[in-house]
Amino acid sequence: MKIYTKEDLNNYELALTFDDISLVPTEVSEIRSRTETSTNAVFMGEELSLPIISSPMDSVTGAEMAIELTKLGCLGVVNRFGSTLENLFSTQDNIDGIKAVSIALNTDDEIIEKLAEQNLIICIDTANANNLGVLKKCEEIKSKFDVKVMVGNIAHGGTLKQLVDAGADSVRIGIGGGSVCTTSIQTGIGLGQVSSLLDVYFAREEQKLKIELIADGGVKSPGDVSKAIALGADAVMLGRMLAGTRETPGEVIKYQDQLWKKYRGSASFGVKMKNEFIEGEETMIPYKGAVENVIDGISDGLKSTMSYMNCKSIEQLRAIKTFAILSNSSYIERLPKK
Ligand code: IMP
Repeated sequence: MKIYTKEDLNNYELALTFDDISLVPTEVSEIRSRTETSTNAVFMGEELSLPIISSPMDSVTGAEMAIELTKLGCLGVVNRFGSTLENLFSTQDNIDGIKAVSIALNTDDEIIEKLAEQNLIICIDTANANNLGVLKKCEEIKSKFDVKVMVGNIAHGGTLKQLVDAGADSVRIGIGGGSVCTTSIQTGIGLGQVSSLLDVYFAREEQKLKIELIADGGVKSPGDVSKAIALGADAVMLGRMLAGTRETPGEVIKYQDQLWKKYRGSASFGVKMKNEFIEGEETMIPYKGAVENVIDGISDGLKSTMSYMNCKSIEQLRAIKTFAILSNSSYIERLPKK
């Protein structure tokens, strides 16, 4: 079997996603226990104990989720939908513990100024960052305010330099891979998440660009988080894995003896509430309780990966060079059987 490096995976003839690859431990690990590993990372100037970011979706991140994630050493990006941005400033309590907020292309300067005064990271939340309007907005914000800006999304590194030139500090990578995303079905756009991430990663390395990379969409398990970081992601953005937890906005619903919470795409009918072009689904997720349990599970999984791979730090995990491409039967063999 061939052991693939990141370069090999990037040059592979087909687009790949998380289930197509696996990490291969090739050395004797010196790590005796998971406690010897550290998942600390600095992302966009924030010191995190785990490089996990919540997606700025209206069924994932409101103030409560963002504040809880800050406590847990992660980063929440508060959504821009409804009157979220206006409500955020209604009491000072709301802002404490919030580190990042998303805006739309038409969010006006008055609001952005308030966000900048609070030293919040600004995420320009669009479906396609390869767009002149997004580049212009990013440039404008960076020239007027002293803030860090996250943009997204892109699926390919071809335009990374233009985003960097517009002042973007980080970029969300992934189009069509989100679990409630119908973009690829509606438009035919997008490629596998692993290939997207690697293409942007090598665009950054080859052109020596300074921008942080966020793997966004299609992350289903702690193992996928580990794979994304091993492929070079600076942070991993989650929607579905955090959906259904106590801290997400929205009601818990009891239906057929099971508790549920709503999870929906930012371009779904439920968010848009009008008959325009829809690129997102709506679904119900079994209620998961405290988000802390989900974060703990990811942290444990990541530390265990690091122990298998003989990596004491996130930087070491990001540098690994040993991957396998799985046959479909190999992938199925990896799954637990009933
Ligand atoms: P998940 O973690 O696989 O559920 O993916 C979450 C990601 O899906 C988000 O961070 C967005 O990048 C993306 N996304 C959210 N809403 C939509 C939508 O309505 N259409 C397409 N992609 C979406």
